[in-house]
Amino acid sequence: MGILKDAVSLLLPARCSVCGRLADASDRLKTELPGELELCFDCLSRMIPEDKDKRWLLCLSNPYIGDPIPSMPLYMPFKYEGFFKDAIASVKFKKDMDLAVFLGRVLGKLAQEDNITGDIIVPIPLSHERQTERGFNQASVIAHELSKALRIPVMDEILVRTRDTLRQSELKMDDSRASNIKDAFALSPEWDMKGNRILIVDDVVTTGHTLHEAGEVLHYAGAQSVAGIVLCGNRYVKNDEPF
Ligand SMILES: [Zn+2]
Repeated sequence: MGILKDAVSLLLPARCSVCGRLADASDRLKTELPGELELCFDCLSRMIPEDKDKRWLLCLSNPYIGDPIPSMPLYMPFKYEGFFKDAIASVKFKKDMDLAVFLGRVLGKLAQEDNITGDIIVPIPLSHERQTERGFNQASVIAHELSKALRIPVMDEILVRTRDTLRQSELKMDDSRASNIKDAFALSPEWDMKGNRILIVDDVVTTGHTLHEAGEVLHYAGAQSVAGIVLCGNRYVKNDEPF
């Protein structure tokens, strides 16, 4: 199959993994895309990061009464729109792991330029069922690329899902999303977070409740600080830059 596939790929022009348009081979060389990923020039040029002073936001816009981490910071260099909306859909529904690796490298480069530091990177886990269905956890794939860029270790096993949550995108209201995620995570018992600065990684942030819940669990386990690091999202309340 490999030889046949190689022969076919010589005959057929490459198509962009995100929009499906013809991808120029020279673009591929310029960007050193991983695996079999192809991106067209249009898609590459749609990846415009927020200005540096707009990348740090509040994880929850309205902290609730008794919130132990009301000022949990969130690093979000891209808006969840345009290219990123299309790309995240390709990662999830076409199960495109090469694209997730590429997005992780993009996030890693920006986080490195912005001098983000920490002791441990913790990806938001997927439910066992969804991970089996997709074959990989995109948050973990992105976290591992961030790890290489920042030279901070990833610990995939720290957070565990305590119960299956409904798909976030199936829920419309903010508060139903919040109650759906409540108590969704627990800390794996063999880990001690005391004194560690934790970077919690996900692909997209919508309401911020998922990251905040994970932050609370790690905070109560003794973490010195928790911050969310995501590729893209729709949070908007500005926060100070912690680094
Ligand atoms: Zn494209």
